[in-house]
Amino acid sequence: MAEPFVAIQVGAASFVDEGVKPVLDVFQDRGRINALFLATPTWTRGTGGRQVPGHPLPNHGAQEYDLDWVGGNYATVHPEYYGGTILGPAGRAPEHPELDIFEAVLPEAKQRGMQVIAWIEESSYADELRRYPNMPKCLEVDPRGRPVPRMCFNNPDYRNWHLSIVEDYAKSYDLHGIAWCSERPGPLNLLMQGPVTDAPMRDAVTCFCRYCQALARERGIDVRRGFEGYQKALEWNASVSQGKRPADGAFVSFWRLLLQYPELLAWQKLWTDSQHQIYRDIYGLAKACKPTLKVGWHVYHNISFSPFYRADQDYAEMSRFSDFIKVVAYNNCAGPRFHLWIDHICNALFADASPAEVYPLVLKLLQLDEGAYEQLPRTGFSADYVRLETARAVADVSGRCAIYPGIDIDIPTPDGTTRSSREQVRDAVKAALAGGAQGVVLSRKYSEMRLDNLAGAGDALGELAA
Ligand SMILES: [Zn+2]
Repeated sequence: MAEPFVAIQVGAASFVDEGVKPVLDVFQDRGRINALFLATPTWTRGTGGRQVPGHPLPNHGAQEYDLDWVGGNYATVHPEYYGGTILGPAGRAPEHPELDIFEAVLPEAKQRGMQVIAWIEESSYADELRRYPNMPKCLEVDPRGRPVPRMCFNNPDYRNWHLSIVEDYAKSYDLHGIAWCSERPGPLNLLMQGPVTDAPMRDAVTCFCRYCQALARERGIDVRRGFEGYQKALEWNASVSQGKRPADGAFVSFWRLLLQYPELLAWQKLWTDSQHQIYRDIYGLAKACKPTLKVGWHVYHNISFSPFYRADQDYAEMSRFSDFIKVVAYNNCAGPRFHLWIDHICNALFADASPAEVYPLVLKLLQLDEGAYEQLPRTGFSADYVRLETARAVADVSGRCAIYPGIDIDIPTPDGTTRSSREQVRDAVKAALAGGAQGVVLSRKYSEMRLDNLAGAGDALGELAA
């Protein structure tokens, strides 16, 4: 068997705090790691900065929180690549203004035979993006016609901004790949899976901006009825989440809305297709700049929880514009996360039933087999979940692209719930490879991982190599 691709997600903070060589030594010695996902740009704590404040600092790196962390671009900005976007160049992160993460890490990584991948998180909802001039001209719009503080990937300026970052990285550095991440579920999924805010906030149901409207018209979707249907669905969501039950129940009244307004489904499909179009554009553009560049996507955890999101994110289709897909299969934090997800959907689409009743059915729909609902926050998901999710993705893509499951190492969980362990990490890595994965991505960021838990990856790979 070929040596698996073993990547780790790591941000600028770790290299600054601990030094490039010592960090790479740890990666190779403890984790048998041979690839780096370097987080840039990033505006979220999930991939940037030190440990999330309030969670225990790991046993390496600076032993204090970076409370004023902002995020942004950790590479040198080459302004010539940012034509055609009023957002201008992707601004430098205010932290470590002298550091170019690629220049700092690439030579040493190459010498060690490690691949370097730019790990780009879209984070269009991040508050920090407010500091970018002209950001208000790129906003999404809710079904009441109000802009919300999140950018639309059908907005040409926002699209070009991301494509410019890709061009800048592809042409300015000798990278092996680009990994791109967009954690958004789409408007109908949001309405079904839990209470939503009917206010112009970042988690609002979107997008009905003029660009999205134009695309809807192109598809023959009645835009006026799209707005109307989503306004009615917002009212349904508000009423159900406040504990009011329509005479026919929450589910039947929602299904009736779908029958009356097929535009609800059509708009979700338009939304998903628009997300995938930016994937296609990045894929083609990156290869136009550098044909050998590997391009892939992070598919976020909702893929393991929501049958609706799972239906949207069709791996077989995605494999036509992917060299790899990082399937999030974080089994430890899945426990508290899925527990909460079930609770939320029982305040929306499945409000007619209790979480304990809904949980076994949704598990069946997802083709998963996990423990009791009440225990879930303390047990997490099993390693077998990682194997099943991997095998499903591997089967779907039919060898057209690689599958690299994301492995959970110390992703913060609420107090009193499950924690990562060396054995959990070892078993998750083994399960991913047993499911047919060509590699794994140790997630979410080195600065939140305990060294002994990271060594669980090395244990698994050592066993396989032996
Ligand atoms: Zn839009």
